[in-house]
Amino acid sequence: MKSWNELAQHASVIQKSVDELLQKHYVLQSFLDAQEWDNDTRVVIELLQNFEKDLTSFKGEQQKILEQLKQERSRNSIFKKVFSTRSGETEANGYIKKADAAIQSIVDGIELLYGMMDQTPASKSEQKEIASELRLLKKELTFQKREVNESLRKTRSNARQKTANLTGLNSGFIGSVARYQRTSIRLEKERALTPNEDLKAFIEKKLVGFERDLNWVMHFTGEDQNDKTQPASEEVKHCNYCGRRIVTSDVCLGCGSTSY
Ligand SMILES: [Zn+2]
Repeated sequence: MKSWNELAQHASVIQKSVDELLQKHYVLQSFLDAQEWDNDTRVVIELLQNFEKDLTSFKGEQQKILEQLKQERSRNSIFKKVFSTRSGETEANGYIKKADAAIQSIVDGIELLYGMMDQTPASKSEQKEIASELRLLKKELTFQKREVNESLRKTRSNARQKTANLTGLNSGFIGSVARYQRTSIRLEKERALTPNEDLKAFIEKKLVGFERDLNWVMHFTGEDQNDKTQPASEEVKHCNYCGRRIVTSDVCLGCGSTSY
């Protein structure tokens, strides 16, 4: 069982790795860069998933402690009840809240990284795929925009019919087939959260976003290697504490860990 301090320390190390990925993503140019970045990002996503498990078991432990303290308090004599403080319970409650917040941040972080991975082509053919998916999404949105305009003109209240036709997808979260679905689901989720009146503005904003994504995806250049083969970097070892590549064999230059 890891202590909160250990978890906090690990969180800041992982945060650094995520920051690095975000910075690197910004300057990616070639398919080869993208392949490497993709591989590094998968490792960090896995790290985040494991960290989420750590947090979940920490939270479970705190819930047990809380339960125990409550039971003890109810068993206490009248004087102890009067004089005892609830600081232990307050502390456990605080940890549970913190763990929940951290878990939510991880869920958001993973979604962000997946979103970036989905727009980072590692080959010419993938670039083509992503670009045509984005164009399709733009087409759908343009159609939706027309619909919204029309329905806004008629009544101002029934534009939300088209939601929920992309739900029910829960498997295959990695891979190019899942990518389109993920993007659609994200879009649908955000859209569902948008009030009718704002839908038009939302769609317009998304259209601009997809246009920007399209430009981003198309800026990648390079020759296709053997397109389908995994890059050699797949064999590169990564530190299982910070997720960075291991350059030398005995210590991680990223975080100093020797525990991989
Ligand atoms: Zn490391």
